[in-house]
Amino acid sequence: MLKLYYIYYISNVFWSSYMENFTTPMMKQYMQIKKQYSDCLLFFRMGDFYELFLEDAHTGARVLDITLTGRPNGKQGRIPMAGVPFHAVDSYLSKLVKAGYKVAICEQMSEPDKYGIVDREVIRIVTPGTVLDEKALDKKANNFIISLSIGEKSFGMAAADISTGLFQVAEFDRTYLNQIVIDELARLSPSECVLHESLYNNPLLLKLLKVQKGLNIYCFNDWEKYSENATSFLKKQFRVRTLMGFGVEGKVEAIRTAAALIGYLKHTQKDKIGHFKSISLFNQKDSLALDKSTMVNLELFSTLRDHDSEGSLIDTLDRTVTAMGGRMLKNWMRTPLTAKADIVKRHDAVEEFMNDHSGRESLRLLLSEVTDIERVVSRLSVGIGNARDLISLKNSLSTILRIQTELDIYTADETRGICKQISTELTNVVQQIEKHIVNDPPFGLKDGGIIKNEINPELDTLRTKVGGGRNWIMQLEKSERERTGITSLKVRYNKVFGFYIEISKSNLHLIPDNYIRKQTLVNGERFITPELKEQEEIILTAEETMNKMEYEIYLRVLERVLLHTEKLQAAASAVATLDGLLNFAQIAYMQGYCRPELIDSGEISIIKGRHPVVERLLDSTQFVPNDVRLNRDEHQLLLITGPNMAGKSVYIRQVALIVLMAQMGSFVPAEKARITPVDKIFVRSGASDIITSGLSTFMVEMVETANILHNATSDSLIVMDEIGRGTSTYDGISIAWAVAEHLVSNPTVSPKTLFATHYHELQTLEQQYPDKIKNYHVSVDNRDGEPVFLHTVAPGGASHSFGVAVAKLAGVPEKAVARAVEILHSLEKRELAVVRSSTMHTDPVSADDEIRASLKKLDIHTTTPLEALNILAALKEKV
Ligand code: ADP
Repeated sequence: MLKLYYIYYISNVFWSSYMENFTTPMMKQYMQIKKQYSDCLLFFRMGDFYELFLEDAHTGARVLDITLTGRPNGKQGRIPMAGVPFHAVDSYLSKLVKAGYKVAICEQMSEPDKYGIVDREVIRIVTPGTVLDEKALDKKANNFIISLSIGEKSFGMAAADISTGLFQVAEFDRTYLNQIVIDELARLSPSECVLHESLYNNPLLLKLLKVQKGLNIYCFNDWEKYSENATSFLKKQFRVRTLMGFGVEGKVEAIRTAAALIGYLKHTQKDKIGHFKSISLFNQKDSLALDKSTMVNLELFSTLRDHDSEGSLIDTLDRTVTAMGGRMLKNWMRTPLTAKADIVKRHDAVEEFMNDHSGRESLRLLLSEVTDIERVVSRLSVGIGNARDLISLKNSLSTILRIQTELDIYTADETRGICKQISTELTNVVQQIEKHIVNDPPFGLKDGGIIKNEINPELDTLRTKVGGGRNWIMQLEKSERERTGITSLKVRYNKVFGFYIEISKSNLHLIPDNYIRKQTLVNGERFITPELKEQEEIILTAEETMNKMEYEIYLRVLERVLLHTEKLQAAASAVATLDGLLNFAQIAYMQGYCRPELIDSGEISIIKGRHPVVERLLDSTQFVPNDVRLNRDEHQLLLITGPNMAGKSVYIRQVALIVLMAQMGSFVPAEKARITPVDKIFVRSGASDIITSGLSTFMVEMVETANILHNATSDSLIVMDEIGRGTSTYDGISIAWAVAEHLVSNPTVSPKTLFATHYHELQTLEQQYPDKIKNYHVSVDNRDGEPVFLHTVAPGGASHSFGVAVAKLAGVPEKAVARAVEILHSLEKRELAVVRSSTMHTDPVSADDEIRASLKKLDIHTTTPLEALNILAALKEKV
């Protein structure tokens, strides 16, 4: 304690002596404020600029590419300074925030006092997870900020999107912390994570969190202030008597982390977070579980190759016309449904929309006019919106009310639900805005021009007065031209001089006696008259009062609008759901998808299924559809063999994607599909190069395999692509073999599994487990030793691998291919020793290297000669 006090004392002494250096009152004020926000860059408002000083100025100049200047400061001489114009602040903020900086916005809160000092206050802290600028946000993605609280047995995670008002919490078993954190990070893709100091200083946790690219991790010093009395704080915040309604009661860690995150949001928004109206509990049991590897391997949001959204499932499935619909669709993809009744409801609505082309078109057209209500409401709530936001809100609400009428003809439960979600009270909001706010208001809120006539008699009187004054001034130009005979005489206005009369040089001899000279220009001079100044005084004073009145009226209207925040958010969610369902109907119509039938038998049967993404990407060739039948009995594990390039990966993934799409509520690319909803989908790919957590890829593959074997249930769907490929052949076969056996030999857990492998030896498993495993192969025609890929999946195992032929097709140098054939023949005769000695007739090292390089081209990496030999042995299996 004493030590702490000592540190406190020393730092204050240091600070006070440091402050001595700042002699100007303004810099003293700056330093006082900066001291409270030392972890942020301080944007210090000075007139039309936000200025950065000292170290912040250097950072700003470097990151924003702006000029570093200086400002005189007493004893210190010049101190570094850099500034950005206030009207363009948003783009600068988004740049800084993207670079991981937090920015405190410090505004002028008063007119200058007699010493010329204005009050200043930090009104908002902008961080990567709390940024609200439209340009900095991806329209169709949530921007999540998360927090974690770890207890002895459980841990809590909260996630908030301040740009939409979404707040979710969850509590998990601490045993699975690592896996869950990795999966949740992949699911939410948050941009910021706030932690208690103790967790922030935990290197293992930091390492885990840093796996997520682009995640900014900060320590929240006031964590305990909010988490200590978390329950009562949350009750107060959400104005409820109990947290029961949110489903979080008794979940200590979830409540703690939720309170701390709300506290952090309040801290950054200076309490203006009224748009967070409730907490929802994210319950994994209600949604289809997808872990990180599955999301990555199925390329749901980005491709494996270039991490781009183009070519991903979302890219194929997203034809939504609103940003809210786009976000909803992503959400549906992150958390597909598991309850049959809920899925059927979505399918019913999609079917109805699909069968009504013109209705669908007209609804989509109307939706395209709806603005991003969620984000508009959030901006207005935190106090950075403007009158234009109110107008776009009004227009959108009118459109939504029209949409509600158009929806009257649809009978699906989900569509009826959407209608009910749109409250008739929104008409009041429309009327409020319509009555008070002009149709095309300016961006600024303090310069008038926002409020309509006949709202406030005093405002109208002032307007008449100002109008009269302005008229008088306009007339003045005319009358003065006549009086003086100077046809080029102009009456103008600027901020420095107010109104003035401008006379060109050649006419200066004509000016009347009552003109008072104010300014000399190159080509003329500027004058005022006592009458002009009198009118100016009237106009400017009246205008100032008017602007203040208008701003106050605006605030009152805003307050009344925000009283309906929950109704507005409900309407936004209705719009998002409608857009999502119409989107499914549109895609189903365009791509020829069918409505999947949902069943309970445990079976998945798909007739003429297609891969939704690959079928779009093939240009010249036609996609070859394939059937699948999986159940808990003799079709529990399908062992799929076939050479490289045959279409194994595409086939097994397409089954997983079809099931996932069905559970999202979408129709599916197939002629017919009967699907029992699954609880989890696991997709694993052997030797994939996607995970970079410091473990070898093979280790990762095995960790993930272990995870499946532990967590899969009889309701799960497993897709294993070339498991065991990341190690030597014999290891690989043994592992693949054991994993396949494990998956079918537990009498109580029999997950449906698609198991693609190039280890043909595994085909004998069918005889060993005839009531569980079926062999399938992807057909390839053999034309003079050259493979022709048919991409059709048929019963039975593959007999021919064409490994070397594929190598040839892939452009492996002929010399290496010939050598591979030579070795193969040797291996076939089980003459490994001869293989070794046969390398002697050429340079052994370069031959090995050449083969290694050739194999590398086929994505087969070898490090040791022994491994190379193992792979060469594998080639044997391929022929
Ligand atoms: P494998 O896993 O057997 O090595 P892939 O599944 O990666 O092969 O398929 C290789 C390529 O074959 C794909 O990139 C695709 O272009 C094509 N392909 C796969 N399946 C089909 C299909 N059903 N119809 C048409 N082309 C296909």
